[in-house]
Amino acid sequence: MGDPIRVTVWNEFKHEKHNQSIADIYPDGIHGAIADGLRKIGGVEVGVATLDQPEQGLTQSTLDGTDVLIWWSHAAHNEVQDGIVDRVYARVMDGMGIILLHSTQGAKIFTKLLGTTGTLKWRESGEKERLWVVAPGHPIAEGLDEYFEIEETEMYGEFFDIPTPDTLVFISWFPGGEVFRSGCCFYRGKGKIFYFRPGHETHPIFFNENVRKVLGNAVKWAKPGKLPNITLRNVNVQPLEEI
Ligand code: ZN
Repeated sequence: MGDPIRVTVWNEFKHEKHNQSIADIYPDGIHGAIADGLRKIGGVEVGVATLDQPEQGLTQSTLDGTDVLIWWSHAAHNEVQDGIVDRVYARVMDGMGIILLHSTQGAKIFTKLLGTTGTLKWRESGEKERLWVVAPGHPIAEGLDEYFEIEETEMYGEFFDIPTPDTLVFISWFPGGEVFRSGCCFYRGKGKIFYFRPGHETHPIFFNENVRKVLGNAVKWAKPGKLPNITLRNVNVQPLEEI
């Protein structure tokens, strides 16, 4: 079994406080629903953190004790202080995994890690989403069928301004005609990044059994392994062999 994976679920926690219909869907916050899903899968030690906490919920000691950080933000991207973003970025470079959910494509940490705008097309239509597994051997797809569906959601469509993913695990199809790269793996520094599209706040996405399965798989994939001792700076070295 090994040690439990230490997960921190971070949420800006705005919609649930300011919109009753969203609070009715997520009475314990989006972070609470995600944490609950992970605990039911097991093998994890889950903490939650929110923007309104001291140091925006992301103190150095919280991050140092986190193997995988899950991030949900939407309305308050710009309230996150640059110093906190730098701190999260440094931990990813040092091996912490990070899972970026849904509208987090507009967050500072997304842009800092991936270097692109993350812009996309969207429509609040309540239409169905069909997520196709396009990397069936990938650990994030473990236990899924060849596709799964979310009955009602917000549409995201291409072009999605991201670097070409190191592995693309899911492509979404929407009845309105659009497609979207909805499960994307990236490596940055020693860290692993997974972007996962589902998660619009006006639908109970984080109670969906397959979404929960994906998040459980993604946490296991993104956790730091026994990493090589690599320094992320320029180093003047002596040759290993005589030259
Ligand atoms: Zn949304």
